[in-house]
Amino acid sequence: MPSYRVRALALKKTKLGESDLIVTLLSEDGCQVRAVAKGARKPGSRFGARVEPYTVGDFMLSTGRTLDVITDAQTAESHQHIREDYDRAQAASVVADVLDKISVECQTEERLFGLAVATLGALQAADGDDLLALTVAFLVKAMAMHGYRPQFDACPVCGGPVHTCEERFSLEAGGPLCEGCEAAAAETARMTPGARNALVALLGATMAEVPGLRVPRPVLLDAFGLMRAFVGYHLPARCRALDLFAAAVGR
Ligand SMILES: [Zn+2]
Repeated sequence: MPSYRVRALALKKTKLGESDLIVTLLSEDGCQVRAVAKGARKPGSRFGARVEPYTVGDFMLSTGRTLDVITDAQTAESHQHIREDYDRAQAASVVADVLDKISVECQTEERLFGLAVATLGALQAADGDDLLALTVAFLVKAMAMHGYRPQFDACPVCGGPVHTCEERFSLEAGGPLCEGCEAAAAETARMTPGARNALVALLGATMAEVPGLRVPRPVLLDAFGLMRAFVGYHLPARCRALDLFAAAVGR
């Protein structure tokens, strides 16, 4: 069987048969790879924590008829601190769930892996107060990379001017609507000026810079609610982790 090596992030594990796991990986080039880790659920398995979600590692795979098989895994960054802390793990589960839903087999998007690793690194190092800001920043950046970059300066439908006070954000077009287009729009969500400014700042900042923006929590909650609706509108399946995170932050 031909084999190949990938640097990848483990996103998800699913039970298979008596003792195996199917591991969903986000490879360095942004493609999703689902592969079998044989015997990974047996006590004392050689895989141990190397195929746990949030682990970045070098995986050796051999090509299988349906799914590829992981023959070796070496950990580059375990992100152990995330798994040991409930709040961090909850934020990281949003990252993994969204990436699981937007990454596609054999469809490269090289920036996605960089964003994933930067986000997990920031979540691992963050103060508890910064987890919400990092999660919102991840959501808006991931959507931008997925082809849904929100536009905040002008109406995304006609390019016309928009109000500066509270606006209706088009979930389909990804931006605040002008008065004319607002009347015809089907699915919209409320966007406060604070949330707008926060999303512009988060989109323009690196993950490492996000905590330094010091966006007030009520504003972050508005921005989170908007991004949650935006993600929910465009993703092919419901993000359960996003629902749980929303319940945890009281949104
Ligand atoms: Zn318009």
